[in-house]
Amino acid sequence: MNATYSNRRRFLKAATLVAAGGPWLARFASTARADDTGRKLGFALCGLGSLSTHQLAPALLKTSRCRLAGIITGHPDKAEKWKAQYNIPDKSIYNYDTMEQMADNPDIDVVYVVTPNALHAEHTLKAAKAGKHVLCEKPMETSIERCQLMIDACNAAHRLLAIGYRSRFDPNTQECIRLAREKVFGQIKVIEAGFGFRIGDPNQWRLKHDLAGGGALMDVGIYALQATRYLSGEEPISVTSLETKTDPVKFKEVDESITWQLKFPSGIIANCSTTYIANGIDFYTAYAEQGNFGLNPAYNYEGNRGARSDGRPFDFPPTDQFAAEMDDFAQCIQQNKPSIVSGEEGLRDLRIITAIYESIRTGKAQDLA
Ligand code: NAD
Repeated sequence: MNATYSNRRRFLKAATLVAAGGPWLARFASTARADDTGRKLGFALCGLGSLSTHQLAPALLKTSRCRLAGIITGHPDKAEKWKAQYNIPDKSIYNYDTMEQMADNPDIDVVYVVTPNALHAEHTLKAAKAGKHVLCEKPMETSIERCQLMIDACNAAHRLLAIGYRSRFDPNTQECIRLAREKVFGQIKVIEAGFGFRIGDPNQWRLKHDLAGGGALMDVGIYALQATRYLSGEEPISVTSLETKTDPVKFKEVDESITWQLKFPSGIIANCSTTYIANGIDFYTAYAEQGNFGLNPAYNYEGNRGARSDGRPFDFPPTDQFAAEMDDFAQCIQQNKPSIVSGEEGLRDLRIITAIYESIRTGKAQDLA
């Protein structure tokens, strides 16, 4: 045990004894001290599938405030591989049944939940119970009630919760938000946004309602929905939507193609679409009184491109959105402030998604005010 670690443990013990505020205060006192020593926050990836393997683990190596400290996996063979590749100690390797034992592991500060959508609540609750902060992939969960459970669990444990809305950390998106907020082209009147791709393997969890909670809308339409909210800076007051299925066999359990229209309090309308049957739909444009601006592609991991109707340049250096997102969450924890992509923000999207499905079911506009 090194000196820093031993000091930290002594400090933690003392803080726990004196802190009238209980574990919350003690925890943040310890984190503040850890900051002083330049300690990076330990992240444990929960679910070692495609995103964890190809994006998150490599991105963690690019962060300045985080490090890969642990893993949670149901596959012992994956555990062996990751252990060797990332030098993860045995004591920081868990499965979904043992993850609550992380309570005894001070190397892990944050659990990053990267499992299928309908397991996010289960894994978030276990992480919070173990006293860990939670960064959870989008969509937050599959229902409003389950999102609320996650928020309540993290609040009860005095831990921060954030959702993996990586686009918010793309400088191209941030520039569009600036153009919108500063009304550089005047008041926005209409937003067009769409995200879709052609999904392959018909047997994957994304096409199973029990694990995915929905189809294209839950998976990628949510990016277009987010865009309309961060560009308008408002919450929609109503939504009307329509679903089309061209392949009722493959998309027996989940939605394939949906269009929806949102109305916002200032009068902005947003026309959106999502699909699981075609590649290349990946954009948003905000049409304002004196011009327009937007991104195409808009939601890729890299290579998003902006354009403004006045022809002025829109150039930003490549950024790893995942690294920026994790560093931002670590900073929120270190500075004890909520994330801009909080659990409440994830819940807002689930509320609108639920209304979109309800509008499809009833054939009527849904009130969101
Ligand atoms: P994936 O199928 O590649 O990985 C899922 C992991 O969960 C696997 O390791 C699998 O073993 C594990 N798992 C645990 N219990 C399971 C069960 N009962 N059934 C199936 N798998 C189970 O999926 P992914 O693409 O890594 O997506 C994981 C999460 O990340 C999803 O919520 C998805 O929406 C999100 N995601 C976000 C982005 C983004 O850009 N932010 C991109 C891809 C995926």
